[in-house]
Amino acid sequence: MKTYSSKPLRAEEVRELNCILCSGTAQRFLMQVGVSRFVKCLDCGLVYQNPQPVFRDLQQRYQGDYFQYEIENEQNFFNLMKLGLEDIGLKCPMPSMFENGRFLDIGCATGLLCEYMKNCGWDSTGLDICGPSCAFGRRERQLNLINKPLEQAAFADQSFSLIHASHLIEHVVDPCGFFKEIYRIMSKKGFGIFTTPNIAGFQARIFGSSWRSAIEDHLFLFDIRSFTQLLEQSGFRILKKITWGGLAKGRAPGWIKRILDFMAKKMGFGDVMLFYFCKR
Ligand SMILES: [Zn+2]
Repeated sequence: MKTYSSKPLRAEEVRELNCILCSGTAQRFLMQVGVSRFVKCLDCGLVYQNPQPVFRDLQQRYQGDYFQYEIENEQNFFNLMKLGLEDIGLKCPMPSMFENGRFLDIGCATGLLCEYMKNCGWDSTGLDICGPSCAFGRRERQLNLINKPLEQAAFADQSFSLIHASHLIEHVVDPCGFFKEIYRIMSKKGFGIFTTPNIAGFQARIFGSSWRSAIEDHLFLFDIRSFTQLLEQSGFRILKKITWGGLAKGRAPGWIKRILDFMAKKMGFGDVMLFYFCKR
């Protein structure tokens, strides 16, 4: 089954763009997903929607229905995020081991991870452009969740020593500007943890436009190479990169899935990538 995606209901304003990573203008058509056209940069390999909707119109996609999706799946997503943290040795990260005890989750949805970190002792903040999700987390969990995109949150320089974003960067209109802002608000000895789908993974290769992450809300689809380039260009050093997920549930008998999951993680062709990084 595909990841949930909103359906662009009316004509959105779109813009054509060159590759955001290398400014390359040479691209080849890769796949059509609904009304969205994906291309691959011939220079650096980045996959992106071209043309792309503008932020003002995209923002409308992430409201009521999105909240429904987030609330129904919050426990699942939280479990996966915790497995990710475990994989990099941060199962329950103690704030005292970091430069300051301030944690930021970007794309925090209903705030389960923020709540978990708060219970681990962190001063925990969440950001999400889905208004109803933030309102829910504030009301039901007494969390500090802000209903703004990162670029409008106006945090002070070096505010956070741990910044997390799960399945967020592929939705962002300007990933380079986004990481510039991450660099500014991350403390000197701070760390970042990002997960995003892997366009070079086994599943993306065999399923093409019916791959679960080939959806209209994903503006950019990275692989290890392009995401590494994005981080390094933004002034970060990668401490760990891992991929996981060989095959989605129900696509094959359990024993085949288990073998593929094991191989994917060992060999780096998993469906999802995690990057753990710090400032260079
Ligand atoms: Zn490029």
